[in-house]
Amino acid sequence: MTRIIVITSGKGGVGKTTTTANLGASLARLGKKVALIDADFGLRNLDLLLGLEQRIVYTAIDVLSGDCTIDKALVKDKRLPNLVLLPAAQNRSKDAINAEQMQSLVDQLAKKFDYVIIDCPAGIESGFRNAVIPAKEAIIVTTPEMSAVRDADRVIGLLEAENIDRISVIINRLRPEMIQLNQMISVEDILELLAIPLLGIVPDDQKIIISTNKGEPLVLEEKLSIPGLAFQNISRRLEGQDIPFLDFMAAHNSLLNRIRRRLLGPL
Ligand code: ADP
Ligand code: MG
Repeated sequence: MTRIIVITSGKGGVGKTTTTANLGASLARLGKKVALIDADFGLRNLDLLLGLEQRIVYTAIDVLSGDCTIDKALVKDKRLPNLVLLPAAQNRSKDAINAEQMQSLVDQLAKKFDYVIIDCPAGIESGFRNAVIPAKEAIIVTTPEMSAVRDADRVIGLLEAENIDRISVIINRLRPEMIQLNQMISVEDILELLAIPLLGIVPDDQKIIISTNKGEPLVLEEKLSIPGLAFQNISRRLEGQDIPFLDFMAAHNSLLNRIRRRLLGPL
């Protein structure tokens, strides 16, 4: 059975595309055949995050208009032979394709891949519906900010009205020092508010911004950084492995204690 997963959020800029690229690469590394669909028509950038923008010849629009087969439009990853991207057309309006067309693309991919992961555009308009309708599972990405959590909550309501079997949440850009100062919402409070299972926590880390600019997903680094490990753990949990959550608050407190000890001597 192919897993068809939409990565969505409500609020824009919270890390959907970053998550799609890293989970895709990580699952491919675990030996899965993975197809990523960029459903963000108009604001194409999954190709940039994967460093594949120069390799795009055809897009989903060319497949739908009959100008090429889906196999021809799929861009193979440079590093991982079992990872492919179906690019969106750039500079097209968000209404460039409809829900049936998206469903037909997903159906074609589902025959050949273990995972089809759909990177959703921001908002809850037609682009959102197109991305959600073919999906069987949804991963909500939120940051620990009230505006993002509130939008995530609204999206969960919409997803529950669709044909989605499983919904889980990734909390992205966690900053333990801000949570401690009550400037951000804690993981516990987010989970209580959203009432869906936690799939993973990814810290706020500038390595992610650097990897975005390089077109090199963090999970592909030889020596994994903490955010890279966080994404790898998420892909393992998707595969059903029981991987404990990284405890960023405890790590932060132990760092604080070490600094305190260094400054003040043993307490
Ligand atoms: P979306 O697809 O939801 O609009 P993106 O994945 O494009 O969001 O991320 C938006 C910006 O935030 C990008 O510049 C990305 O590098 C940055 N970003 C995402 N996650 C993190 C993180 N955990 N730490 C630091 N920067 C991040
Ligand atoms: Mg995006």
